Amino acid sequence: MTKHFDEERLGLFELRAFVPSWQTRLGRVLVVSWLILNAATAGAQSKTRAHVETLASPRLEGRLAGSTGEKLASDYLVAELQKIGAKPLPGQNDFRLAFDFTAGTRDGGSTLSAGGRSFTTQSDVRALSFSDNAEVTGDVVFAGYGIVVPETQDFGYDSYATLDVKDKVVLVLRYFPEDADQKTRAVLARYADLRYKALAARQRGAKAMLVVTGPRSPNAGETIPMTFDTALAGSGIVAASISGAAANAILAAAPDKTLEAVQKSFDSGNPHVAGFAIPKSTVTIRAAVEREKRTGHNVAGYLPATEGCAVRLTPAAGDCVKPWVALGAHYDHLGHGEAGNSLAGKDEVSKVHFGADDNASGSAAVLGVAATLASQPRKRNVLVGFWSGEELGLIGSTAFAAAPPVPLDRMAAYLNFDMVGRMQDNKLTIQAAGTSAAWAKLIEQANVAAGFDVVVQADPYQPTDVATFNSASVPCLSFFTGTHADYHKPTDTADKIDYEDLDRIVDFAAAIVRRLEDATDAPQFTKVEQQFQTGGGRAGVRVFTGTIPDYASDAKGLLLGGVIGGGPAEQAGLQKGDVIVEIAGQTIANIYDYTYALDVLKIGQPAKVVYMRDGKRLETMLTPAARK
Ligand SMILES: [Zn+2]
Repeated sequence: MTKHFDEERLGLFELRAFVPSWQTRLGRVLVVSWLILNAATAGAQSKTRAHVETLASPRLEGRLAGSTGEKLASDYLVAELQKIGAKPLPGQNDFRLAFDFTAGTRDGGSTLSAGGRSFTTQSDVRALSFSDNAEVTGDVVFAGYGIVVPETQDFGYDSYATLDVKDKVVLVLRYFPEDADQKTRAVLARYADLRYKALAARQRGAKAMLVVTGPRSPNAGETIPMTFDTALAGSGIVAASISGAAANAILAAAPDKTLEAVQKSFDSGNPHVAGFAIPKSTVTIRAAVEREKRTGHNVAGYLPATEGCAVRLTPAAGDCVKPWVALGAHYDHLGHGEAGNSLAGKDEVSKVHFGADDNASGSAAVLGVAATLASQPRKRNVLVGFWSGEELGLIGSTAFAAAPPVPLDRMAAYLNFDMVGRMQDNKLTIQAAGTSAAWAKLIEQANVAAGFDVVVQADPYQPTDVATFNSASVPCLSFFTGTHADYHKPTDTADKIDYEDLDRIVDFAAAIVRRLEDATDAPQFTKVEQQFQTGGGRAGVRVFTGTIPDYASDAKGLLLGGVIGGGPAEQAGLQKGDVIVEIAGQTIANIYDYTYALDVLKIGQPAKVVYMRDGKRLETMLTPAARK
């Protein structure tokens, strides 16, 4: 019923506008009664339902950062902050904090001239999204796969070991050696990300990096689609992908070498196979990247302390230690899925991604906690933040932390809420708890009344805004009720939210904040070592298995929160709830093992998967597909 909230309200107002005067009073009475009724159902029965239903309504069109939907959502959040008496942050006169970002990139006409030929179409030459915009001319050095494994890894692989590429244009192969043994592939794959390859080339003085997908690799000879890249500027080097034909034109200057033979020589992964300078191979590459700039908006305000703590930004004698506690959630989502991070099936592509759980639920939780705290005495100032651009790479919270209106070293703690509306079996995951030794006890105490089956995870390096505050050395926690089959799909709708448990999370978090306010000391920050380091993100992963891992799981193995419709995992008969314990001979104890294992899978080559279902150990074959 509440699904038709907006239409219903609109209907009533229209009625009032068109009824003759003798009926106006009746109309008003109707509106008022309806509002009271609505407040009663949405207010007294749920602290969060009306917020989720509004934020996840079709009118807000999925709240993509920088869009009209984001603007409407921010209007709503500002109005709600005003309702509970929050103020703009010190030194600000608006709740909205704008930040600029790149909303997308496209090739604006890159060109290459090589071997007397000129290449001008995107099927022959296309800038990489992070390239500088410039034209450079230079001799070409073929640098194999262009991979450098840092010395700290003690692995001894450096494509540039014997090469002088200063002021040269380097030509490298995409991906990593095709025929290397599994262990070698697993290591090299981690440093095969294109950004990382470009960094290695730039550090050695190269003017430009050209990438070709070798004939022995998937997507052979094709230029690389531009990836979504939110950087505002280039990465300090000209970088482009080129076709097999363009690479052959360059290699024509070295008649004894064919691209296929050259690739084959590198494919064993033998670190002693060296690259070579190509004589008389001067090329001119002009890279043109068009970056579409947009402005996104964080929304932030605060509830001033009512006793004990001053709002002063520069500490004075007698001030309490760390006078701020912060609450935060991202309120942006995927819009119509245009940024490339949608998991929608073919039939629902470009539909509105409502993002009820991700993350209208977290935004509603923050509003709920803030409303609770607003009605009570407070011993610390409570910052209430709603971040945008999270889905595009934590852009909003990162912008906030880069120029925070309140110094982050004055924050006693930050509590993050991301996907908290789909609780199952009373299970609440609390991530980032390793950021302070104080958390374990605090969580336990607050949970006496709440009674959740709490799963505490130390790791703060989560794909959500808590990572930003961890980087700023703020003790933090992130609440999460787990992933599901509607994750990043248009089917993540408000009717699927479990409001009763969402409200319990609000009470639980409010209790934690009260304990933080009451403590004279603030939690001490502990730095958690990152368990898993990649050369440059997961962009090096090129296989697609179609699994949706349950990140909150502490199961031994990889618990599937779902499988992508039509994907390899579904075709292999895997389903939500299965726990993968082995893939292609690699045992899987956790999600990190699984990510490593992905590196050794080969596209189109069936791999044995061992998994647990209902306590039984089963096997199937999964054939990985290519990620474009
Ligand atoms: Zn998301």
